[in-house]
Amino acid sequence: MAAAERQLTELEAFGLNVAGCTRCRLAQGRTQVVFGAGDPHADLMLVGEAPGFHEDKQGFPFVGQAGKLLDKLLAGIGLDRGTVYIANVLKCRPPGNRDPAQDEIEACEGHLFRQIELIEPRVVATLGNFATKLLSGKPAGITRVHGAEQDVTLGGSRVLLYPLYHPAAALYTPAMLKVLEEDFARLPAILGRPAAEAEPELASPQLAQVASEPAVQLGLF
Ligand code: URA
Repeated sequence: MAAAERQLTELEAFGLNVAGCTRCRLAQGRTQVVFGAGDPHADLMLVGEAPGFHEDKQGFPFVGQAGKLLDKLLAGIGLDRGTVYIANVLKCRPPGNRDPAQDEIEACEGHLFRQIELIEPRVVATLGNFATKLLSGKPAGITRVHGAEQDVTLGGSRVLLYPLYHPAAALYTPAMLKVLEEDFARLPAILGRPAAEAEPELASPQLAQVASEPAVQLGLF
């Protein structure tokens, strides 16, 4: 079997496995697990926060208002959701779209790390504070780090982490939307850059560090 076929099969099998996850309390209130969607061989992976009402019902990430903006931003750089892979830190909807709890993130992070390992994206764009803090392993919040690439090791591979504002935050704040559009506009150049030499990194992301800037969930999902 070709390597590409094997990767697809493994990601699908993993998705089926995660569909029955009961690692945290969110399993009780969900309609379904929202595993992720898109090209399983994508160079660009986008990681949001958690499914909201519409995602929980439909089973796909970013299908509500924030998702429409995300589609627009992707279209603005010549991409669509079929050419990238989209996932979330949490695979199940927190009740009332509240913020993810620390123990829920800890229970769920292995699913995201395994997805990254199987998809092997070159660039992971984190959308908002929760994804940025988890995948950078650093407490610096999105206001400070948006638009600045970081070299990280995720799923055993060297990956460029590119933090972005969450589209939900930009929906009602024109100034933030402008920054998000500017940061998005740099993505094609980042994707076009040759991959960094693989070098083992000393520290892997530590959830314990995820804390200093309050991560705001805007209740717009
Ligand atoms: N929809 C998602 O799937 N994730 C988010 O973070 C917000 C809306």
